[in-house]
Amino acid sequence: MKPVEKPFTAEQAERIKALVLFEAPTLVRQLSNTDTPVSLDEAIDAAKEIASQIKPGMMKSEALAIAQTKFDEMTTPTKCKKCGGEMVPGQALLQTFASVMPDFPGDKVGITLSPGGPGELVDVLKCRDCGHSFTI
Ligand SMILES: [Zn+2]
Repeated sequence: MKPVEKPFTAEQAERIKALVLFEAPTLVRQLSNTDTPVSLDEAIDAAKEIASQIKPGMMKSEALAIAQTKFDEMTTPTKCKKCGGEMVPGQALLQTFASVMPDFPGDKVGITLSPGGPGELVDVLKCRDCGHSFTI
């Protein structure tokens, strides 16, 4: 059974912010490549911007949408090598970022940082048109 999504409590929002500040710079830099370089300072600024928008009462899906929007801004899509279509961050990135944000099922408050970490990023960019993906 799928757990029901609950809004963040004040304490959870603070913890998510801390996790975002810790993890997001790495994720943003994973997305940067020679075509769209992202400096560490820019990545940290992006993390701060994402964290500043995470508030108590927000749903995890909303927080993920904010993060995804920021990632899209930071990483100008490149063109697909196969069809010339627009390349966008793939599922692997979203899964990795989602793993940073716990679901808080029931009263369980443990947070695991490791699963799906940046080291496991694959098919980071995916073509919107033909589905071709490649690893940076
Ligand atoms: Zn394509």
